[in-house]
Amino acid sequence: MAPISKHLLPMNSSVDTDGALRIAGLRIDALAAEYGTPLFVYDEDHIRSNCRALVAEFGVDNVVYASKAFLCKAMAALVHKEGLMLDVASGGELFVALAAGVPANRCVLHGNNKSDRELIEAIEAGVHHIVVDSFDELARLEAIHATGLPAARIQLRVTPGVHVHTHEFVATGQDDSKFGFNLTNGDAARAVALCKESKSVELLGLHCHIGSQVFAADNFTAAAKAMVEFFAPLGLEELTLGGGLGVAYLNHEPTPTYSQWGSALKEATRNLPSSARVIVEPGRSLVAATAVTIYSVGTVKNISGIRKYISVDGGMSDNPRPIMYGSGYEAFDPMRVDADRPDNARIVGKHCESGDIVILDASIPANVKVGDLMVTPVTGAYGYSMASNYNKIGRPAVVFVSNGNARLVVRREEYEDLVRLDIG
Ligand SMILES: *Cc1c(COP(=O)(O)O)cnc(C)c1O
Repeated sequence: MAPISKHLLPMNSSVDTDGALRIAGLRIDALAAEYGTPLFVYDEDHIRSNCRALVAEFGVDNVVYASKAFLCKAMAALVHKEGLMLDVASGGELFVALAAGVPANRCVLHGNNKSDRELIEAIEAGVHHIVVDSFDELARLEAIHATGLPAARIQLRVTPGVHVHTHEFVATGQDDSKFGFNLTNGDAARAVALCKESKSVELLGLHCHIGSQVFAADNFTAAAKAMVEFFAPLGLEELTLGGGLGVAYLNHEPTPTYSQWGSALKEATRNLPSSARVIVEPGRSLVAATAVTIYSVGTVKNISGIRKYISVDGGMSDNPRPIMYGSGYEAFDPMRVDADRPDNARIVGKHCESGDIVILDASIPANVKVGDLMVTPVTGAYGYSMASNYNKIGRPAVVFVSNGNARLVVRREEYEDLVRLDIG
């Protein structure tokens, strides 16, 4: 198997004279020595570059970062500084965004089951809008308004009845979905009518999000067309067309571009009046490829005639995607980036589960041994944000690197953190 493909590495990656990987000028072995492993390393300027490309493609104020892909204070502050708004899907995500200094009116609240507390906090803080997901939520907003709070500025989430080609658990735009108001059966039209009558909400626009890790541009076009048809006669200001753009995780996969995505959306929305604002909400495509995870190899077990197992010092606790969706990744030795990968192994974590798999069937360089570093690229989205401390393994540290400098933005979880919530 060929060496790791460079399109999977962060933008500011380079290979040192001895074959070692550098990101933003910093050697991976030096970062591992300083911060320990497993370690998430984000190329900060790559994140910035993606933010700028999005703003250039869709216009300033029309890009909302779906923060569930990766959120910490440093990330929230960075995307805010780049002019993006933030989509938060819980009171907790809103708290982190506000703690990072993001003004509430640059945040948008999502969720199919928001609590009263979350709704009240969002209205009191003054979020830009709340994306309302159900008739029950409209009733809840009515009751909250009756207690004296201002009317909530809202969009309605609509499921346009488009089934996309992606994993079932991340497809969200089909009729059979827990999310949003069904377009096909008339619920969406009924919700709009209710909002127009109601004093408890101010309806700004409509929203749809058809799913995640979507590659086919025609999926976006089909959803956007259905939304435009419904949206156009309503005379509303804002149409949010979700996130969902896929990224390459494997050597042979192509990277869809923002301009391809932008073209598909522009084509579908070109007949809207210029007063209508088209908003996008990318998560994965903004951060996935900007980070890598560095692991250390702890055991190498060769079962002759069966397979080789390589155990690394993390696993499902820092990357649950393989176990949740059967997602694939590549792995390579960051001390010999350009080495061919003729060997095969199952790369596993250190958890007490046979399902604790990082890569089911990985191509790796020859002679990987205990103590080597191993890197999985494209782990910047839905890795740290889905991390757990199962087996009381502390969550990894997160480092941002830029121009030869590293800064720790999330420290490693230590033993003491593991009893912080225990009482008695
Ligand atoms: C997750 C999510 C996104 C972002 O999806 P990606 O596939 O990460 O781009 C956008 N909007 C909503 C409502 C989401 O739930």
